[in-house]
Amino acid sequence: MAPRLALIGDAAHAVHPIAGQGYNLGVKDIAALADVLGDASRLGLDIGSLSVLEKYQRWRRFDSATLAFGTDALNRLYSNDFGPLRLARDLGMGAVNAVSPLRKFFMRQAGADLGRLPALMAP
Ligand SMILES: Cc1cc2nc3c(=O)[nH]c(=O)nc-3n(C[C@H](O)[C@H](O)[C@H](O)COP(=O)(O)OP(=O)(O)OC[C@H]3O[C@@H](n4cnc5c(N)ncnc54)[C@H](O)[C@@H]3O)c2cc1C
Repeated sequence: MAPRLALIGDAAHAVHPIAGQGYNLGVKDIAALADVLGDASRLGLDIGSLSVLEKYQRWRRFDSATLAFGTDALNRLYSNDFGPLRLARDLGMGAVNAVSPLRKFFMRQAGADLGRLPALMAP
């Protein structure tokens, strides 16, 4: 992050392609940046200043880091053919599939629909 520079989409994330979620994250980046810039503009602040752009960075950091960590863990889990690990991941997948709240949580996570939502994404 630098004054007058904000990265969005894949340029801002280091998410493994296995996630297939880069687009969703990018859309949320755009909506969050629009919120932050809109708020700053209404307050008469310089929308390109570091202090304003850092609000956007702080907002999006958690989502990006969580997804990067989660997909890296999934990738490692599925790249390993060790028997007990295979059993554990099959049981885990079965549990996620069978327990509706768990399944919904992961679906919402995949759709970047968790956490603080920008106005453009509010239900
Ligand atoms: C097989 C596959 C499936 C996917 N499925 C999903 C999915 O189901 N859900 C999901 O959310 N995401 C999915 N993604 C991820 C998603 O496609 C990307 O995260 C998203 O397209 C990133 O958008 P972006 O605009 O940030 O970057 P990009 O789409 O990469 O756009 C960057 C653009 O900049 C251009 N460019 C690069 N360098 C320069 C330059 N020097 N000057 C000018 N232009 C330049 C490129 O040509 C490109 O057009 C998938 C990705 C792949 C590969």
